[in-house]
Amino acid sequence: MITKEDLANLIFPDIDKTIEDLETIYPKRDLKEGAQVTRFAPSPTGFLHTGSLFTAMVASKVAKDSGGIFFLRLEDTDTKREIEGSALKLVEQLRTFNILPNEGYLIDESKTNNYGPYKQSERRDIYRTVIKQMIINDLAYPCFASEEDLNKLREEQTAKKEITGYYGKYAIYRNLPIGEAYNKIKNGEKYVIRFKSRGNHENKIKVHDEIRGDLLLTENDQDIVILKSDGLPTYHFAHVVDDHFMRTTMITRGEEWLPSLPLHIEMFKALGFKPPKYAHLPVIMKLDEGKRRKLSKRKDPEASVDYFLEKGYEPYSLLVYLMTIANSNYEDFLVSQKDYDLDHFKFSLKKMSLDGALFDNDKLNFYAKEILSRMKKEEIASKSHEWAKKYDENLKNFIEKDYSRYETILNIEREKKNPRKDYAKYSDIFDVIKFFDTSEYQKILSNGLTFNPKLDKNLIKSFLVEYPSFLDLSSDENTWYQKVKELASKLGFCVDMKAYKANPDNFIGSINDACEILRIALVGRSVTPNLFAILSILGKEEVIKRIDLVIKQL
Ligand code: GLU
Repeated sequence: MITKEDLANLIFPDIDKTIEDLETIYPKRDLKEGAQVTRFAPSPTGFLHTGSLFTAMVASKVAKDSGGIFFLRLEDTDTKREIEGSALKLVEQLRTFNILPNEGYLIDESKTNNYGPYKQSERRDIYRTVIKQMIINDLAYPCFASEEDLNKLREEQTAKKEITGYYGKYAIYRNLPIGEAYNKIKNGEKYVIRFKSRGNHENKIKVHDEIRGDLLLTENDQDIVILKSDGLPTYHFAHVVDDHFMRTTMITRGEEWLPSLPLHIEMFKALGFKPPKYAHLPVIMKLDEGKRRKLSKRKDPEASVDYFLEKGYEPYSLLVYLMTIANSNYEDFLVSQKDYDLDHFKFSLKKMSLDGALFDNDKLNFYAKEILSRMKKEEIASKSHEWAKKYDENLKNFIEKDYSRYETILNIEREKKNPRKDYAKYSDIFDVIKFFDTSEYQKILSNGLTFNPKLDKNLIKSFLVEYPSFLDLSSDENTWYQKVKELASKLGFCVDMKAYKANPDNFIGSINDACEILRIALVGRSVTPNLFAILSILGKEEVIKRIDLVIKQL
């Protein structure tokens, strides 16, 4: 008589290990109390999605905060959907965001705990070892149903308004006599291996989610495929085996996996493994014409982290922003502590919002500006230079003409208590500072300058004509400003703002209006950073040259 062992040996003749052996090879980790082992488990099917970055950030933070381990596992079992080169790109992008796994795919395994390989396609024998034993223990069986058989089954179930799938009385191959299964395989028939579920979909089971608390979910009764005909496992099975033998303690993954949780827990228990803790993270949503919807790969450029990198967002800004949507108390922390070091914030799964995190570009820009404004000039100069080399020819040329001048320009109203917040991203820089460049200034000039229509044209002209003899950059801002005031008051501007505000009609304009003439003439804009700083960087000669050009135009 043919036994389950015979069947298992026929299918996996080369497997001589057991689950017990795997338990010894991948022993429980020696961790301090409370330390969590988390993982990021992307599939190499394209670009890094902003939602995936969010998941990776949370996983790495949970491990870091608890003194645990965060690892990276490449889930490459869906060979049809794999995109060449995307695995490497994922690793690079994580590095860009400074999300650095302690162990995992493409990390030198000689230097880490060896729970690898961390690429699923290299773990075939681990899956096969477990399945071999599952067949012997009546937890799995070969199924010979063809695509056509399954389609027919689905039609039949749909017509009868029954739950579709391969389960219960519909799972015909689960009761196939062992001898028959054995012979079919011997005869070369195509098959998959299915899990033999003991569940019933009429039952509810209690599960626990670290974010949502206790939940009642429908028990699984589907005999899902665990090993495909190509010899690779499905996600559900690989998740159970890998997270058990990699000794993950906390699964942080997208909430789209929540309905599969009863299945996963059933498999953990069937195998005698202790299930890990689970936290199903909210999906990032977007407001579209007043309605909330998921950030979509197809419709939204911001669904890809590349979009933010190309725009020149400092990667860290995006992380800070994502943390504000992960934990709403993080914003309070930022406001009260003015501390942007993510490592100083204690993240809590319990404080995650449940109704989907809403992506808000204005808020991202707000925090991004804060972060860029807090950088020292050397840092923002070198980071924006690196970015410009890749994405912005104009800025790159500007920087490389005179690097130290570029630093000086970026330093205007920086490194002080309330620094200027002109830039949310590196792509904002060129437009703000391009006027420093003579040829860019010519372009601004040829587009025409718009002065305050309230001021008489002749007054503007007289101010500009006389200004060079009042231009004093030899000392400090105060000395310079006194001279501007001197000229302004000579021409009838009110230099005392209080007096001006009390009776604006008594004057042709205020000292601010006078300064605005200089801003427009030299920069092309009525709002600029500190004027003295701008004049000092331009230098006396260039200022006078520009003023002459403007006078000619007036
Ligand atoms: N490879 C799965 C995905 O990309 C991972 C889900 C998980 O973290 O378990 O969706």
